[in-house]
Amino acid sequence: MDITLQGLTKVFTDNKKGKGGQVTAVDHFDFAIPSGKLIGLLGPSGCGKSTALHLISGLHTPTEGRIFFGDEDVTSLPAEKRGVGVVFQHYALYPHLTVMENILFPLENLEGKDRLPKDEMVKRAKNVARMVQLDALLGRRPKELSGGQQQRVAIARALVKHPKVLLMDEPLSNLDARLRLQTREEIRRIQRKAGVTTIFVTHDQEEAMSISDEIVVMKEGKIQQIAPPQTVYDNPANLFVAQFLGTPPINVFRGRVQEGKLMLGGDAVGMLPLQKDGDVIVGIRPEGVIPDAAGPLLGRMDECKSMGREEHVYFTHEAVTGDRVHALVEDPGSLPKAGEVRFSIKPGKMYLFDAQTHQRLYWEIK
Ligand code: ADP
Ligand code: MG
Repeated sequence: MDITLQGLTKVFTDNKKGKGGQVTAVDHFDFAIPSGKLIGLLGPSGCGKSTALHLISGLHTPTEGRIFFGDEDVTSLPAEKRGVGVVFQHYALYPHLTVMENILFPLENLEGKDRLPKDEMVKRAKNVARMVQLDALLGRRPKELSGGQQQRVAIARALVKHPKVLLMDEPLSNLDARLRLQTREEIRRIQRKAGVTTIFVTHDQEEAMSISDEIVVMKEGKIQQIAPPQTVYDNPANLFVAQFLGTPPINVFRGRVQEGKLMLGGDAVGMLPLQKDGDVIVGIRPEGVIPDAAGPLLGRMDECKSMGREEHVYFTHEAVTGDRVHALVEDPGSLPKAGEVRFSIKPGKMYLFDAQTHQRLYWEIK
């Protein structure tokens, strides 16, 4: 089932902020999700991710805009009629029910023509239990399961009604680091197998990168970029996206265009044919900073730390914002321990942004 959002907007009136205080939690969302894809909705806390999900599930009514499932306009359809499965961070299984009974619960609650015969319910519950690999644990109660297993029960419970759309709101936040990694692979596998169109909300860029077909990056209710994970990383649309994705984060410099040269402080790091002079913001990914005695970027060595396969090199530079430049270096070779150091910049790892709007400038750097 494909999903289309048209001008989807939610404005909350915030009473705490006094009369008329308003928050636009979701601001004119326009995008289409192809059937069977997993979309990662990514952004910092408070940017409107949960609100967007609640609009799609039917828990909130939009202030403006429309939601389509396939050709059907579901904007004013009540939540229970939309055919969505929802998994929250706090998935609240029924503690007194077994795994099987927890999974069956949504089916037991169906009424009228939607109600299935008992043997059909059991068959369906067993099928989804097998899909999430819980078939050996059907008789256990939630407290006899690990966190990851409990989360899989919640996913099975969301899938058992054969939803057209699966919505997951930070479903891994309650799990420890190792289990998060494992469970996100599981979710990906289950989602592919079920072929259900899924929106996965997270504030964790690495999680979004690893699980999504496409990422929707949000800030303050507004979409910043929609693209496959690698594209969002390699081709950020603006400074916010460039800074939100990537560990360690991108290095940001105050740059200047002067007579066709791109200057970082006193260092000419590239040529920009035909651009007019003025300030720009320059982002350089840590893996794009390469030790090179003949390179244009002149810094002062601060620290070198070995972390597994890579060396983390830190150096100061007059034009960097923040304390120092962070470089990820495969071969630190003959880098001095202190004093002046030179680096070159890998093409494709340096981006220019407008100094005022912070939008990407697609100028060719030579
Ligand atoms: P996220 O899930 O990305 O952390 P939310 O969608 O929960 O963000 O919140 C987005 C914004 O909307 C926040 O400023 C939040 O305070 C506000 N908000 C969310 N729900 C309500 C509500 N029911 N009433 C008023 N304001 C709300
Ligand atoms: Mg939220």
